[in-house]
Formats: sequence, C-alpha cells, structure tokens
Amino acid sequence: MRGMIVIDRELCKGCGYCMNACHLGLIVIEEKFNKKGVFPAYAVHGEKCTGCCMCAEMCPEIAIEVYRE
Ligand code: SF4
Ligand code: SF4
Repeated sequence: MRGMIVIDRELCKGCGYCMNACHLGLIVIEEKFNKKGVFPAYAVHGEKCTGCCMCAEMCPEIAIEVYRE
C-alpha cells in the first residue's frame, strides 16, 4: 500500500514522537522555526510511505494527516 502524510508545521510542537514512530525514517525535523518558535517535523522520501499511520497516532497535536492509495 502506498501512503502519503501531510504535517501541519504550525500545529507541530517539535516533540519528535512521529519521527521516532516511523520505522522507515521518513520524518525529520526542519531547520526553520514555526510560529510557535519550535523546529517542526517534516516528511522526506514520501514515495516510501506505506500509510501505516504510526506517526499520526503518536502525534499529541493531531498535526499529521495520512492518505492512502
Ligand atoms: S504513515 Fe507510516 S510509513 Fe508513512 S511516514 Fe507515517 S509512520 Fe512512516
Ligand atoms: S508528533 Fe506531532 S507535534 Fe510531535 S513532532 Fe511530530 S508532528 Fe510535531
């Protein structure tokens, strides 16, 4: 299954839970602050996402949406 995630960088509080949850290492932390003054999470290598939802389930801010094909 193919998946895709969208992270709302302004909702994100930079906790990194999603990054630790993704077994494929598809989430990193950005180098630019968001409006909260934290470094938000950012999705990379989107073509590898399986849509497993582990990242979204771990997010305390409900900042991640997962789409599946
Ligand atoms: S949905 Fe799964 S594979 Fe895709 S970024 Fe989130 S944890 Fe990683
Ligand atoms: S778990 Fe949510 S709040 Fe924490 S870094 Fe990831 S997207 Fe941001």
